[in-house]
Amino acid sequence: MVKAKELTVEEKLTALNELQKIDSKIDEIKVLRGELPMEVKDLEDEIEGLTIRTTKLEREIQEWETSITNNQNAIKDAQNQIAKYNEQSKQVRNDREYDAIIKSIELQNLEIQLCEKKIRDANNKIKERRAYYEESMKKLEKKQKALVDKKEELTKITAETQIEEEKLEKKSASQGKKIEDRLLQAYKRIRNNYKNGLAVVTIERDSCGGCFAKIPPQRQLEIRQRKRIIACEHCGRIVVEL
Ligand SMILES: [Zn+2]
Repeated sequence: MVKAKELTVEEKLTALNELQKIDSKIDEIKVLRGELPMEVKDLEDEIEGLTIRTTKLEREIQEWETSITNNQNAIKDAQNQIAKYNEQSKQVRNDREYDAIIKSIELQNLEIQLCEKKIRDANNKIKERRAYYEESMKKLEKKQKALVDKKEELTKITAETQIEEEKLEKKSASQGKKIEDRLLQAYKRIRNNYKNGLAVVTIERDSCGGCFAKIPPQRQLEIRQRKRIIACEHCGRIVVEL
C-alpha cells in the first residue's frame, strides 16, 4: 500500500468517486435482477414445507386405513363367534347355559358396534385429511410451477448481466486497491449503511446529494477546494466536487 499513501487528497477523492461509480453500476445490475433470488428462495422454502405436510397427511391417511382394516377383521371375528354361539345355543342343556350364550352374543354385538363406530370415525378423519391433502397438493403444484418460471427468469437475467457484473466486480476490486485501507473501509462501511449504496455524493442544489441536507456555503467552498476529505454532517457520506 505504499503507492496508496502517495496519493494527494484530490487523487484520493477522484479514486473514491471512481469506485463509487463502478459500485453503483453493480448495484444497478442487482436492482435489475431484483428480488428474484429471494423470491426463488421463498418458493423453495414454501415447497419444502408443503412437501413435508403432504407426506405427513399421506402417512396419517394410511394409518387410518390400516385401522379400518383391523376393525373390519375384528367385526368378522365377532360375527364368526356369534355364529358359533348360535350353533351352541341349539344344544344347551339348561337355562343357565342358554343365558351364558346369550350374554356372550350380546358382548360380541357390542364389540361389533364399537368397531363400526371406530370405522366411521376413521372414515371421517380420512375424509378430512384427504380434503386437506388435495388442497395442499394443489398449492404445491402451483408453487412448483411458479418456481420453474422464476428460476427460468433468474437464469435469463443472470446470464444477461453476469459477464457485465463480473467485469465490474474486478474493476471495483482493482480500483479499491488504489485507495488506502482505512479510507476504503470507511467507504465500505458508509456504503453498507445506506440502501442505495451511496458513500460518495456530490453537492446538489447546495445540499448533500445523499441525504439532501443543506451544506453551508463555507463548507461547500472547502469541498470544492479538495484540500481534505469532507463528510456530510448529517449522513456521513463523503461529499466531492470534482
Ligand atoms: Zn448527507
